[in-house]
Amino acid sequence: MTQQRESWEAARRLLRRVRDVMAAPGSMQDRLDFVVRIIAAEMVAEVCSIYIRRGGDMLVLYATQGLNPEAVRVTRLAIGEGLVGHIAERALPIALSEAQSHPDFAYRPETGEEIYHSLMGVPILRAGRVLGVLVVQNRTPRQYTEDEIETLQTVAMVVAELVAGRDIFGDGAAETSAETSTRPKRLSGTPLCGGLAIGTAVLHEPRLPVRRMVAEDPEAEFERLAVALREMYSALDSMFSAADLSSSGEHRDVLDTYRMFAQDRGWIERIREAISGGLTAEAAVRKVQDDTRARMRQVRDPYFRERLHDIDDLSNRLLQHLADPEADQSIASQLPEGAVLVARSMGPAELLDYSRKNLQAVILEQGSPTAHVAIVARALDIPVIGGIDDALGNIQPGDTVIVDGDHGIVFIRPGEQIQQAFVESVRAREEQRAIYAAQKDEPTVTLDGVRIVLNINAGLFIDLQHLHDSAAAGVGLYRTEVPFMVEDRLPDVAAQTEFYQRVLDLVGDRPVVFRTLDLGGDKILPYWRTTREANPAMGWRAIRVALDRPYLLHQQLRALLRASAGRDLNVMFPMVTEVAEFERARSILATEIRRRERRGAELPRRLRVGAMLEVPSLAWQLPALLQRVDFLSVGSNDLLQFFLAADRTNPRLAQRYDVLSPAVLSFLRFVVSKCDEAGVPVSCCGEMAGDPIEALALVGLGFRSISMPPPAVGRIHAMVRSTSVSSLAEYIRSLERLPDHSVRAKLKAYAADHGIAA
Ligand code: PEP
Ligand code: MG
Repeated sequence: MTQQRESWEAARRLLRRVRDVMAAPGSMQDRLDFVVRIIAAEMVAEVCSIYIRRGGDMLVLYATQGLNPEAVRVTRLAIGEGLVGHIAERALPIALSEAQSHPDFAYRPETGEEIYHSLMGVPILRAGRVLGVLVVQNRTPRQYTEDEIETLQTVAMVVAELVAGRDIFGDGAAETSAETSTRPKRLSGTPLCGGLAIGTAVLHEPRLPVRRMVAEDPEAEFERLAVALREMYSALDSMFSAADLSSSGEHRDVLDTYRMFAQDRGWIERIREAISGGLTAEAAVRKVQDDTRARMRQVRDPYFRERLHDIDDLSNRLLQHLADPEADQSIASQLPEGAVLVARSMGPAELLDYSRKNLQAVILEQGSPTAHVAIVARALDIPVIGGIDDALGNIQPGDTVIVDGDHGIVFIRPGEQIQQAFVESVRAREEQRAIYAAQKDEPTVTLDGVRIVLNINAGLFIDLQHLHDSAAAGVGLYRTEVPFMVEDRLPDVAAQTEFYQRVLDLVGDRPVVFRTLDLGGDKILPYWRTTREANPAMGWRAIRVALDRPYLLHQQLRALLRASAGRDLNVMFPMVTEVAEFERARSILATEIRRRERRGAELPRRLRVGAMLEVPSLAWQLPALLQRVDFLSVGSNDLLQFFLAADRTNPRLAQRYDVLSPAVLSFLRFVVSKCDEAGVPVSCCGEMAGDPIEALALVGLGFRSISMPPPAVGRIHAMVRSTSVSSLAEYIRSLERLPDHSVRAKLKAYAADHGIAA
């Protein structure tokens, strides 16, 4: 214990000295030269060096005590190269008593480091980003202790604050940082929301600034931490108790898990250790958060990653409770015009915080097509690309960035010609949009007089404006879970009623189909934890959750009935697998109707109840189902991923199976024919309906109503008006018999030959 105390004392002394140097006047070079001298002396090392990351993928020796001074700004290592590059790549510390025998050791003759045996290095981290590497070396083989690694990490964090966001190399050095950081670069990721945009990079940093790093009195910091933790627990408690679920066992589990996690001893202990090492409470929380983010990069296991995410989230909450009340917490307000946001990840509410007016596109290091932020971005029609590795490391604030959301490509600092070409493409798109808008009142009728109803899929109020500026007739799918996902608590019946009423007011006389909650699977509510599933898409979700937790469905249907008193109400249930499930959901609706009748409350003027066809098994129960439903809506996204047994979120399978395969076409024809025989209206509301060639196939198969993402309506409207159904139907029928993997190319050729705008 005495030894521990001594080592903390030493760490605090070092930290205070580093802080004083940082605060002193002088150039960055002078200050860092001084810092390496102090660290070397305090840590009894012959060498201390600082490498700074530059241009995204290079580490340059910036300051050294002990290595050859001529090597400064000369020695460079790529990320991943040598031990220094290895530390930066993995964002993890290394301590070696025999560094030269490590397979990654890279000898640089100019440094004169061959005489040093042992090496300890830590990443200089900020916001999970590696800004550089701090290294000490010793001549004799030396075993560095855990405490020494911890101390060096703490010092690195303070150095990170000094160098972050500064033009370190811009002070008269022969080589300028511009050389590498202005190099154009092309990165690819996953398209999450289509569209093209050019703008200026703005880093999304939901982090509060930590203004004071080094503390004089650890006891006072322990006390501040304890107070902040207490405040955070009570804030979490009131957040949960405000949710309208207090009587349910489920809710208790959720609350307990979350609270238990917030009280995780390991997490709090690591923060306390960092305070013992001389940091303020907020700097200690930040340090543990940064370490966690670095670990997150290494972890592949999704369950564990999620847990680390929770720590990240809790750290932000805790920092808020520790924050300086003067701190400016509003990041969103500062968004400049033409901004392209770059983020590690982002929640849907965070995206909504930004003003749509200035926001051009979003680039994420994480994110899948079903990420909540992607759903909201689609509603706002903002191009988004996810899965861009080290976007924050590659893109500097202020860089010009082109985002090709259709192909998932980001061009960073593009050359003049590329910029010109993109400006042209964006203009062509705008012109096309203007043409579609001008034609919106033309009837949606094929050349041979068949009327096709085009509807939009909506999830946010903002989607509904497209009803007025496009040819859409109504809302074919209202995803009611989106407002649940962007709120921080479960909306109660009154809040839901108000919400649905607002939707009905906004759509006016047009029809809207409300889909009951499709929660579970990947649509997890922030305030409602469930256990992780191996196959969430085919797991406990949608109607399965609704039937197992009927209070949710009761509440939602009660709110829908209330909101549509005296008006039309169309409801449909998602992920129905068998008729019996539909029957049970319908009987819950019947109970809610009786409840209103008993109270003498007004009922909807007309009630229509439908089912989504998203699970293939239901197609084999169509005769029984169709006697009980007022309409059927084919959810092609889920239906076809189950039909083809191909996870729609797995990029490896994206090219392998095609929804335009003969098997899919004949399956969909079977569904349409059963509905036609039974006289039940059928629609398709998956992504297929928004792709011109796929929608062409749907029309040829007999769908007379399709529902799509709002931005697609213009193109599909033009496609329908240039198509003749009779010959198309004949052609599609001939394709179903082919042994081909896909008939997409053939359909495209057909469209081109027949002058169809697809
Ligand atoms: C579908 O599965 O096609 C559908 C419309 O539902 P979601 O995309 O919301 O899962
Ligand atoms: Mg679905």
